[in-house]
Amino acid sequence: MRKYIVVLTIAIIALMVWIYTAVFAYINYHNIKMQLVHMVDPLLVPYRMAVLQAQPADTALPVPVEGVRMRQIADTWGDARSGGRTHEGVDIFAKRGTPVYSATEGYVVRIGTNRLGGNVIYILGAGGRRYYYAHLHAVSPALSVGDRVSTTTVIGLVGNTGNASGTSPHLHFGMYQFGAQNPYPLLIDRI
Ligand SMILES: [Zn+2]
Repeated sequence: MRKYIVVLTIAIIALMVWIYTAVFAYINYHNIKMQLVHMVDPLLVPYRMAVLQAQPADTALPVPVEGVRMRQIADTWGDARSGGRTHEGVDIFAKRGTPVYSATEGYVVRIGTNRLGGNVIYILGAGGRRYYYAHLHAVSPALSVGDRVSTTTVIGLVGNTGNASGTSPHLHFGMYQFGAQNPYPLLIDRI
């Protein structure tokens, strides 16, 4: 008799736990689903990056600085720079704090600082091309490595960090695929 009471008690407790869990899961279905998406999503980043790398590289890049038109941008690729360097990019001048957008779809592959570039961010785009945004006043604090971006994502703000501290704020925009390439011929007006 005592054995049956023990079994029955365990069965009732199990049933109550099951009902509680089911009700909890039902009420919090949306949150639980979002949690799972958040857990699984980062695992898919390498796959999504590989898919993007396999696609042809972009042939038109909207100017990555808000409000700047093509006619305001000079092609300074290859110009002489200090220390015998040549200019490997395009300088897009704008007021400090102007939003900088990604010129492409892609993934954030590096955020950091370096002596020449100051605050910088690298975006990996289609065709395995890397895009380099330098002299930023700040990189968007919402971004971290692995995040997906599009041409409407603000990735930072125009500034003059790094070796641009003596010049007026501008974005240094670089493009790398088998070495540095000139992005200027691919730039188009944003709107
Ligand atoms: Zn530059």
